Amino acid sequence: MENNTYLQRLIFLAGEHALPHAIIIEGKNFISIKDYLSEVLENAMCKGSNEKPCKKCSDCIKLKAGCHPDVKFIEPEKDSKSIKIESIRNIREDAYVVSNEGGYKFYIIKNGELLTVQAQNAFIKILEEPPKNVVFIICTEFLSALISTIRSRCQIFRFLENEDLDSDVEKLGENFVKAILDDDKVEILSLGGKIPNDRIFFKQLINVIIELLIKNCDKDSLNEKLVEKIDVLENVLKMLERNVNFNLLVCTLCAKI
Ligand SMILES: [Zn+2]
Repeated sequence: MENNTYLQRLIFLAGEHALPHAIIIEGKNFISIKDYLSEVLENAMCKGSNEKPCKKCSDCIKLKAGCHPDVKFIEPEKDSKSIKIESIRNIREDAYVVSNEGGYKFYIIKNGELLTVQAQNAFIKILEEPPKNVVFIICTEFLSALISTIRSRCQIFRFLENEDLDSDVEKLGENFVKAILDDDKVEILSLGGKIPNDRIFFKQLINVIIELLIKNCDKDSLNEKLVEKIDVLENVLKMLERNVNFNLLVCTLCAKI
């Protein structure tokens, strides 16, 4: 069983085109999980020739717009609180058809705990003969709501609780702000080495630092130096959006702040 905190491994496997065909992501915060899933999908589907995701190819653009024909989200039918066997039968028919864009096809179940037992049993039949290049991702708050035969056929990834992630980001953010205010370059470099190679963590960290620095700015006499620092941080965020290499992001942050 996998126990991966930041789902980084999934993003890596996506880039290597080595994703398992059936994945369970256990975690409470679907919004954060979805951020990671976007990265997984981009890395798996991007057809850019250089660094991936390129954010420019048709796959990247369709993913960003939320309209990629090879990514399907499965939710309960209207007026229903569960995902019924019919939905799974529809997937079964669809999954064996080759993808629109010739690459991976993804079926993502947002609330796996809403699958009825009949639906889960039907699902096992697909997992027993997995279609080529198809990845099923079941997200769930309650792993125990899935029957054991499904669990044993999926690779299970745990998503770190949001509070834990928040406290890590905040602690590091506070330390950064202290070092920035003290203008302690050595400490800034050492803190840079503690940033996990995780773009979403990094984005949250930069936002925490900006927020704390703004709190430190006296509104009447905006400290020019701090305003400069905030500019640097906002530039780093823009670089992150442009998908600049992670090490370069950290170097820029530490050198210019
Ligand atoms: Zn791309």
